[in-house]
Amino acid sequence: MGQPLKDKDAYQRLNFLYQAAHCVVSQNPENVELARFYTFTQRTIARRLVLRQDPSVKRTLCKKCYSLLIPGVTATTRQKKKKRKTRFTVVKCLSCGQSKTLLNNPDYSLWSDRPEAQIEQQQEPACLLEIEEVLGKKSWNVTHEQEKSQGHS
Ligand SMILES: [Zn+2]
Repeated sequence: MGQPLKDKDAYQRLNFLYQAAHCVVSQNPENVELARFYTFTQRTIARRLVLRQDPSVKRTLCKKCYSLLIPGVTATTRQKKKKRKTRFTVVKCLSCGQSKTLLNNPDYSLWSDRPEAQIEQQQEPACLLEIEEVLGKKSWNVTHEQEKSQGHS
């Protein structure tokens, strides 16, 4: 059972870092390093607190360099067919070349893709300033110079 409130707080931080990574890449595709900093921190938190990350999050992160995998921006995708009916999507990370293979299953829907999950996501704050707050609470062995230079309000 654990501590639901504490976990919820941690999950909100993970969710926030994940959104921040998407946010900076969508603003400028050259922000891949900054995005990786966020996703790497996200992974550090998840590991430290032994939290299970949502599969929809996992499949968009490179397992080798933690880059955010956005098709056409930071990753390439191609379709692969095995046997007759089984189809896969191969996502290749443009930063390190690592690729992951995802099974295409039209009947399988991730929980986070369902309407009830969207409602919760919309309530998440979209303000980059909170990163300072999230990161300031613990000493991560990474520099904070990058997000300071962002200067969002
Ligand atoms: Zn990679």
